[in-house]
Amino acid sequence: MAAQQVALDSGLSATEAASRRERYGPNRLPDVEHRGAIMRFLLQFHNLLIYVLIGAAVLAAAIGNLIDAAVIVAVVVLNAIVGFIQEGRAERALEAIRGMIDPHAAVIRDGQRVDVAAEDIVPGDLVLLEPGTRVPADLRLARARNLRIDEAALTGESLPVDKAIRPVPQETVLADRTSMAFSGTFVANGTATGIAVATGPESELGRISALVGTVEKLTTPLIRRMDQFARLLTVFILAACAAVFLFAVYVRDYPWQEASWSSGLPSRPPRGLPAVMTIALAVGVQRMADRNAIIRRLPAVETLGSVSVICSDKTGTLTRNEMTVRSVVTPEGVLDVSGVGYRPQGGFTDNGAPVQPGSNTALTEAARAAILCNDAELQHSDDDWSAHGDPMEGALVCFGMKAGFDPALLRKQLPRTDEIPFDTEHRFMATLHHGHEDGSAIAYIKGAPEQILSMCDRQLDQDQIAPLDAEDWHEKTAFTARHGQRMLALAMKRLPKGTQDLSVSDVSQGAVLIGLVGFIDPPREEVLSAIGECRTAGIDVKMITGDHAATATAIARELALAPEPQTLTGDQLDDIDDTDLPDIVRTMTVFARTTPAHKLRLVRALQIDQDVTAMTGDGVNDAPALKQADVGVAMGRKGTDAAKEAAEIVLADDNFASIVAAIREGRTVYDNIRKVIAWTLPTNGGEGATLIGAIAFGLTLPMTAIQILWINMVTAVALGLTLAFEPTEPGTMTRPPRKATESLLSGTLLWRICFVSILFAIGAFGIFFYAIERGQSVDMARTMVVNTLVVMEIAYLFSVRFVYSGSLTWRGMLGTPAVLIGVGITVLAQFAFTYLPALQSIFATEPVAWQDGLLIVGIGAALLILVELEKSIFGFFARRRTAAPKTAASETAA
Ligand code: ATP
Repeated sequence: MAAQQVALDSGLSATEAASRRERYGPNRLPDVEHRGAIMRFLLQFHNLLIYVLIGAAVLAAAIGNLIDAAVIVAVVVLNAIVGFIQEGRAERALEAIRGMIDPHAAVIRDGQRVDVAAEDIVPGDLVLLEPGTRVPADLRLARARNLRIDEAALTGESLPVDKAIRPVPQETVLADRTSMAFSGTFVANGTATGIAVATGPESELGRISALVGTVEKLTTPLIRRMDQFARLLTVFILAACAAVFLFAVYVRDYPWQEASWSSGLPSRPPRGLPAVMTIALAVGVQRMADRNAIIRRLPAVETLGSVSVICSDKTGTLTRNEMTVRSVVTPEGVLDVSGVGYRPQGGFTDNGAPVQPGSNTALTEAARAAILCNDAELQHSDDDWSAHGDPMEGALVCFGMKAGFDPALLRKQLPRTDEIPFDTEHRFMATLHHGHEDGSAIAYIKGAPEQILSMCDRQLDQDQIAPLDAEDWHEKTAFTARHGQRMLALAMKRLPKGTQDLSVSDVSQGAVLIGLVGFIDPPREEVLSAIGECRTAGIDVKMITGDHAATATAIARELALAPEPQTLTGDQLDDIDDTDLPDIVRTMTVFARTTPAHKLRLVRALQIDQDVTAMTGDGVNDAPALKQADVGVAMGRKGTDAAKEAAEIVLADDNFASIVAAIREGRTVYDNIRKVIAWTLPTNGGEGATLIGAIAFGLTLPMTAIQILWINMVTAVALGLTLAFEPTEPGTMTRPPRKATESLLSGTLLWRICFVSILFAIGAFGIFFYAIERGQSVDMARTMVVNTLVVMEIAYLFSVRFVYSGSLTWRGMLGTPAVLIGVGITVLAQFAFTYLPALQSIFATEPVAWQDGLLIVGIGAALLILVELEKSIFGFFARRRTAAPKTAASETAA
């Protein structure tokens, strides 16, 4: 018993924890089994088209065409290798992100509260639980206060369960073991301390983990749709092949071997398309992580690109969450507080005249309450002061020290026996202390001024206690808040001798108001430009905060959230019914004194108007709103585990600017996916159109089957893939958000596919007949066709890189490293294909004269110019279309 008592005070020692970690292993579930590399490689062959190609290779070998058979096999294997590498890259991207949100837990070791990786918890550790914490191991509760735990992950029970320390009989079923907190569940409210009794695979979650462990795949609805589309296209193309084959043999009298080849492979169905799209997604996820936005659910990458409203918290997200007490408001007047940061140096002035802390009772009492009703500590190292705990509480400790108190000494003199923790619903915190000379207990209370005023009936007036002048205080609060200061009220209440526990009813009335303190929390500098970016990108930014309306409005004005920000408070929101809400919400910029429940209503109201909403949150009660939002954004630093679990994105730096950066990347990913499609489909279509055209008119085929395979292998790998790495296009954040319902294969894109396919066919046929007319051999003509097609694909690649602007610029021509490497590889491959004797004998090619080479390059350049011309004509009409309604609207408004 004694040993346990010691452990309950001081926890394990660091050395004991280390040796237990050796003995029991890390506190994590065994890794989900990954598919082995060989299996992953073999699975690359499990694909309808590959089966068809293997069939074709067998057929080729059977009719004695061994070279063709070998080329097809080489292509199939190369295809598998590329697929394998692409998939590996995607999996690595996922792994890297998973590692970024390593859960942590608070434990007591050597008598100190320390933050450790959840993995390092060992049996016997004393673990602290707070609202929103994910329970890191199975714990036997030793101390619990109003503890309720959401055990849905374990038992499926959707309502949180009350927990206490009372033992339960041994045979009690899991769901009723109220004296235990189980690994993987979330603290809904209350606080507790528990002793870890089972960790890792030994925990209840570990025992069922075999049932829950699944491998996450790098995919999104968009990619799944594209995958289905690619499959459908494969089936369609195979059916078309059969039709072309029959037509070729029976109508055009082609020998069946040749017909089977050419009709069987008119165009490589865009099988690689979903794979390249996946790479584009993986690249986007990585870039977002570099910008501090960690993607937890992949579809968010896509949704981010269409976000039209961001609902952001204020403290820490729009502001720096570096608080400093600037003013103390007492019945006699307002004292200014000097000093910067957490350094406890500075003084007090009243209208410029210095005030000695000891001479002002209200100031002294305020400082005492500020230190006692507080969980933060200030740390001093290397001439630098930092706050451990809530920054606002850190600022209060600093204020108390400026008033002459030594926090450690004060906390020893008036020890705390109980507390009511702060929660966003009630907006106050209270602590119970003993040690006053008369032996009475005293509660110190701090919280939002309206809340504290409703609990007080008297106020400290000089050295006396006078009746409360609530109206005057409300005015004082509003006045100071209008300068953007965050206001907090401090109060105290004497309680009967011997009171050991504190409950809400003990302090809900009859308290004495000491005064108000005002904090400054400067806006983050980078947020100003991020908000400007949102404005040009057509994204509305709304602030949803628990703070006072006047403070929030002042900060909104400072950040230029709107020219004249309109503010609605939580109470006003309650009076509006659901049908009127969407219209009102649209016109408002700031929502103040809100609770998490309001956030949920606001998201729903915005979604009625089809707005794609990103919502930030950190508390356990924010989880429903984060889940409801199209993109839930949790704070990585101050966010609870519950909020992170519910969110799609976790911000490593809690910074609003990172959300905007993620949106920019989201738009880029979507653009890149569109570019991949816009490039792949017409290039395949162009090859197909060339062959089908030849068969339809009974002409000599301008390419052989293995030459087509060559083009596809070289260009799809070396060229198509480069588009996945495209950087953000200029002007990406000056467009309005994409409609969530917008189809990927828009009318413009379909038109572009047809237009470019036809240009490809014209180019290929043109060069073919030009060569034949000049009396060159069919092999030479075909070599020129293959080179022309590849050059046109390169030219079109440069055009596709810019969807919204012209490509014929320096910047456009210089390309990116990925593009230049891709083009370099392709050019080398084409030279080898054309001039290397070994490849000449395989592919039946002939060396092209340099004049013809120039002609081929000229055709590529002509294609680029034509596509650019088409793009600018289209762009001109599109701009006129979007500009017309705006002009009409502004005229009406005028
Ligand atoms: P945001 O929602 O913008 O991040 P916030 O931090 O202002 O904002 P809450 O945390 O809900 O919102 O706080 C609401 C109010 O409750 C604050 O304005 C303050 O008056 C009071 N408050 C905040 N933290 C504490 C605390 N630790 N103890 C007592 N009162 C607090």
